[in-house]
This record gives sequence, C-alpha cells and structure tokens, in this order.
Amino acid sequence: MSLDLQKLASFAKEQGFIYPGSELYEGIGGIYDYGPLGVELKRRIADLWWRAMVQLHENIVGLDAAILMHPRVWEASGHVEAFHDPLVDNKVSKKRYRVDTLIEEYAQRLEERAHKEVEKKLRKAGLPPEKAKEEVEKHKDYQRAQSLRARLAEAMAKKDWPALTALLEEEKIPCPESGSTEWTPVRQFNLMFSTHLGAVAEEAQEIYLRPETAQGIFVDFPLVLKTARLKVPFGIAQIGKAFRNEIVARQFIFRMREFEQMEMQFFVPPGTEGQWYEYWKEKRLRWHQHLGLRPEYLRFKDHEHLAHYARAATDIEFAFPFGFREIEGIHSRTDYDLSRHAQFSGKKLEYYDESQGRSYVPYVIETSAGLDRLVLAHLSHGYSEELAPTAEGGQELRTVLKLHPLLAPIQVAVFPLIRKEDFVQKARALYEELRFYFLTAYEEKDSIGRRYRRYDAKGTPFAITIDGQTLEDETVTIRDRDTLQQIRLPMAQVRAYLAEKFDVAQWLRTL
Ligand code: ATP
Repeated sequence: MSLDLQKLASFAKEQGFIYPGSELYEGIGGIYDYGPLGVELKRRIADLWWRAMVQLHENIVGLDAAILMHPRVWEASGHVEAFHDPLVDNKVSKKRYRVDTLIEEYAQRLEERAHKEVEKKLRKAGLPPEKAKEEVEKHKDYQRAQSLRARLAEAMAKKDWPALTALLEEEKIPCPESGSTEWTPVRQFNLMFSTHLGAVAEEAQEIYLRPETAQGIFVDFPLVLKTARLKVPFGIAQIGKAFRNEIVARQFIFRMREFEQMEMQFFVPPGTEGQWYEYWKEKRLRWHQHLGLRPEYLRFKDHEHLAHYARAATDIEFAFPFGFREIEGIHSRTDYDLSRHAQFSGKKLEYYDESQGRSYVPYVIETSAGLDRLVLAHLSHGYSEELAPTAEGGQELRTVLKLHPLLAPIQVAVFPLIRKEDFVQKARALYEELRFYFLTAYEEKDSIGRRYRRYDAKGTPFAITIDGQTLEDETVTIRDRDTLQQIRLPMAQVRAYLAEKFDVAQWLRTL
C-alpha cells in the first residue's frame, strides 16, 4: 500500500505527534512542532543514538555546543562562501524550486517511464525480465536522464548558474505544477539565517544560526582533546538544532527550516580513514536496522561527485512514501575542517601521537543523521491500515503504528474492562506501579475494543486489561499490538514481563 504523505501528516497531527508550527497564526513554512507523542518518539530515537554512540564507545564523548558561534567559524567552514542553493522561479505557476532537485526529479521521472515501457514491451513479447536492464539502457528516456544528470553534476560542481539556466531552457524542463517551461534565470541563495548579536543596533554584529552541528565539534576539538584525555582514534558526538533557510521546505518534516541533527566526528590517524569509513558505514546501517527499519527500506547511495576535500561520501537512504531519500550522511572529510580552523584562528589544531612520535592534523570520518527525518521514517514505516477481527466475530479496519517497542511514546496502556469500582481500583493500582518503570497510560472511557484501536494508532505495543477474572485470581491479559494475541499473566509478573520487552541493555548488545 502506498502511503500518501498528506495522510501521514494528518494522522501525525491528529494523534499529537507533529503539528504545523504556529498554526494559530496560519502556520509558518517549513517549521513544525512536536506534540505529546512526537516529543517522546523523537527523544527515544535520540536517546538510543546517544547510548549506541557515546555510552557504548569508550572513545566517543558527548558535547553540547552553542547554536550561536563566532562569525569567523562560518568563513572557515566555507558556509559564507559556498552554502548556496541555486533556485529558479517558474513564470507561470510562480513556484520556486531548487534547480538541482527540479532536474533530478525530472530525470527520475524519465527513468521510471523507461522502466515501465520496457517492462510492458518485454511482457508483450514474452521475453524474460532479465533482458530489462539492457533494454532500459538503450531507451531514449533513460539516456536523456543520464545526460541530464551529467550536465547537472558538472554545472553544480562549478557553481555555473548560467549553465543551469541554459540546461532548463534547452531541455525544456517543465514545471511540475503548471507544465510551463518558462523560467527565470537561476540565482543563488544563502541558506544561513542571520541575526544580530548585541543590544545597540549600530554596534551589533551580524551572526548566523548554525546550519549544522559539526562546526561546534571542530571548534571545541582542542578543548575536548585536553580535558577528556583522549587518544586518536576518538569521536565527539552531539545532538542539536540546526537551521537552514531552505528555498523550498517540502515533504512534511523531511525538509525543514529548523531541524535537529545527530552528528559524530571521528578523528583518526591519516592513512586509516578508509577502514574507519567502512566501519562507520556498517555500524550506522546496523543501528537503523536494529530499530526495526526493514533492510529493503534502506540502502547506501554513494556520492558520485565529491567535495574537493572529501575522500568518500555516502548517504544512507530510506524508502519514504515519495521515494528513497537521505536520512544520514557518512563522510570521509580528510583534515579539511581542522586545517581550515587552524588557518582562520591562527591556532594549532594538531594531535601529538605518541606511538608515531609526531604531531599531525587528524582525519575525520563524520556520521550525520537528521533526527526529524528519522521520526518521519519511523512514522511512515510503522503506519499500517489493516483488517482486524472484532469481538463480535466480524472484521474492521484498524490503523496501527508498528513502532519498534523501544521507540513507542507510550509503552503500555492499562484498562479496566468496565468502569466499575473494583475493576478501576485494580487497574489504577497497576498503573500507579508501572509508571515508575515504563511510559504508561491509563484509560477507562469507551468500549475495550475502541480503547485497543486508539492505542494501536499511538503505537503502544502492549495493552493490559483488568477483567472479571482478575478479581478472582489476580491475573490480567496482555495484548500484543502487532500479533493481536492475548496472554494471561499473574499481575505480580507483569513488571518483569514488560522489563524484558523494553530492555535497552539487551538491545544495545545486539548492535
Ligand atoms: P539534502 O541533500 O537533503 O539537502 P544535505 O546533504 O544537505 O541534505 P547534510 O548537510 O549532509 O544534508 O545534513 C546531514 C543530515 O541532516 C541529513 O542526512 C538529513 O537527515 C538532515 N537534514 C539536512 N537538511 C535538513 C532539513 N532541511 N530538514 C531536516 N533534516 C535535514
């Protein structure tokens, strides 16, 4: 079933996961708020990242650098000069696009068309599907897509905006909204938000909201090195907000103007970066898989055109409802960042390696994940509508959010079967006990069937019901969100049963 993003956004709002920012005032583009369930989900993802990266690695430490940094930081990092996206407006629809995405998406549509036509042709001719690859490569749309991509990459690498304007014109790339091929010239646009530091307007200094968390790590590198007494290879990890004035903030929380990153910079001796790059690629993919994202929903996409300082770069992509897109980048960045900060600050950013008896600027492998994109990935991966049996023996449609148990915003819900005092008393007592250990909810309104459905949609893995039998023998039923199976357990064993299901240590051991 293909899931419509609009539907997912409505669901996320209705359930209290994600709200449009400032909705009371008609909203504000590309800004979102996390509601009561969303904030829990986001925190859980962040916590499991932190535990896997910082807690489990003897040689990785945490950092929480400020959002506002000295303006020179962004000169050193290259953001003042180069953090630009090329944008273009369509004269008919008045819609604004990032040229690279516009052309890439057009190329993708061409390629999909080639695939479809070839499939149809092979089926008609009774030819085996193995011939498809060869046939697709000969298809004119496929070849055109490849040539568009090559021209795009070349112009992007050179930041040659007139070449992009010419490409749109010559190739008659249509506006997805109006179909019109009339475009304004391509212009560049700096993605950093700026503000002013200081109270007196005339003396205030222009500064930027950080567009990535990584630079805080580089700038604090010498302090961390000294205070944490680390030996290369070691890493510094950070979770924090980043801001980008994206030209087109689209696709719900996929592309936001205020978002959160989880980044780790791993400093290694020059010459060993290749092996560490492979190590982190594999580790990070495993982390995503162990949080329940099925392998076929994840893939690596290597960057074909590397930044001049990069040795290698790959994206971990997830199959969103709108196609495979980046959720995390893994980059081998040489000594570029530390060297630039050394140059701009005039200070040495070196490491004295006792084993080698010399100083050098370490190389960096970076893992950079978008927390909000992971929230979106888990919501879309877990969302399901399916037929489920009713108590009366019929069937009904249920919406269920199959989140990994460790990510569930509510881990367990406790219900008295009916709203009678002795049922309620027992259920309240169990709730009061469990909430010290788990994210627990209590609910007595509506029929039990409706309550089950309600918590299915919130992604609650277990629901416990206090029924008539509980009053006789102190046992309860525990219903599993995914299998719908119910087991009966003595009330005294419930805590241990749940503790095993939500055992973070056990999960960490599997990584
Ligand atoms: P894109 O190509 O999608 O613009 P990027 O390559 O610029 O992304 P990076 O600079 O590598 O992204 O940032 C690292 C991670 O931060 C990305 O993998 C993504 O998960 C997240 N991220 C980047 N931009 C945004 C955004 N506007 N909204 C939400 N998450 C973002």
